[in-house]
Amino acid sequence: MSILNVDELSVQYSTSRGTVKAVSSVDLGLQQGETIGLVGESGSGKSTLGLSILRLLPPPGHITSGRAIYNNIDLVTADEAVLQRIRGREISMVFQDPSATLNPLMRIRDHFLEFYGAHEPDLSRSDATSKAKGLLVQLGIPSERLEDYPHQLSGGMKQRVCIGLAIALTPRILIADEPTTALDVLVEAQILDLLRGLKRDLNLTLILITHNMGVVAETADRIAVMYAGKLVEVGGTRSIFQKPLHPYTEALLQSVPNLKKRKQPVKSIPGNPPDLVDPPSGCLFHPRCPYAFEKCVVKHPPLLSLDDNRQVACYLRCE
Ligand code: ATP
Ligand code: SF4
Ligand code: MG
Repeated sequence: MSILNVDELSVQYSTSRGTVKAVSSVDLGLQQGETIGLVGESGSGKSTLGLSILRLLPPPGHITSGRAIYNNIDLVTADEAVLQRIRGREISMVFQDPSATLNPLMRIRDHFLEFYGAHEPDLSRSDATSKAKGLLVQLGIPSERLEDYPHQLSGGMKQRVCIGLAIALTPRILIADEPTTALDVLVEAQILDLLRGLKRDLNLTLILITHNMGVVAETADRIAVMYAGKLVEVGGTRSIFQKPLHPYTEALLQSVPNLKKRKQPVKSIPGNPPDLVDPPSGCLFHPRCPYAFEKCVVKHPPLLSLDDNRQVACYLRCE
């Protein structure tokens, strides 16, 4: 069953340099209970897409067209009051930058009190504190750490607190933006385990944003690959890893170190992602694509559905 449908969503940032076309006509359906890994290089529009689903884009970002349908509500045009009911309670986000969530001048306890005060004003302070303690313990943090300030916590603990605030009202959808990027591999594994456990226990639908293909390999049911603001390939994790169909996905996978094949060299993707103020003509990947031919320079290929629930935007696959 589909829980969220993003339809032709486009987002731009108006800057002094010009208009940044950060997300362009993205279509993405989310199935209840699945984990979808949203991957792509830095600047490909992953965070912008996540933030725009909750209409939390910072200025000068704005949605220029499209829809995001949740529960028959279009989140793009819904009243702010409706969105406020949905944020945190139904759809929640762990932000890429923990400082967007954690105020260095506030104890962890006060973050939870403020959060419950905003969303459940009838809850007493002592009940809110008990709930916060319960959450911290569920997340593997001793409850006395509620008295700490953010700087007194390790990176992994801070990330757990951010996850705790995001799941405090047991949302149905969690958008986790690079939840493990700043962490070492051991703590990363713990956080991924935690997310998998929460997904199972709370029946969460998870959008996991990351540039790390290893993280999606371990965690996601499906993968959506973004390049320069567009989705270029969507499909089951196993089938994408076995046979990437888009040249960009292929390049991304070749750039992941494979511990089983240590002798196989890791290839970096040649060239740089395009400037989204002045993107190239045609297929946005053509300046870096080893398979590009004449047509690729003229028009961007559409994202077409193939067998096996695969979607791909590449002329090599649709002719
Ligand atoms: P990363 O992996 O580095 O987090 P990302 O895939 O999340 O990257 P976004 O942060 O969504 O990418 O950025 C998409 C594009 O929008 C980039 O070109 C970026 O420079 C631009 N952008 C993002 N935020 C702003 C902003 N506040 N003002 C202007 N441009 C922005
Ligand atoms: Fe490469 Fe052309 Fe496919 Fe784009 S459409 S990925 S340039 S082959
Ligand atoms: Mg980001």
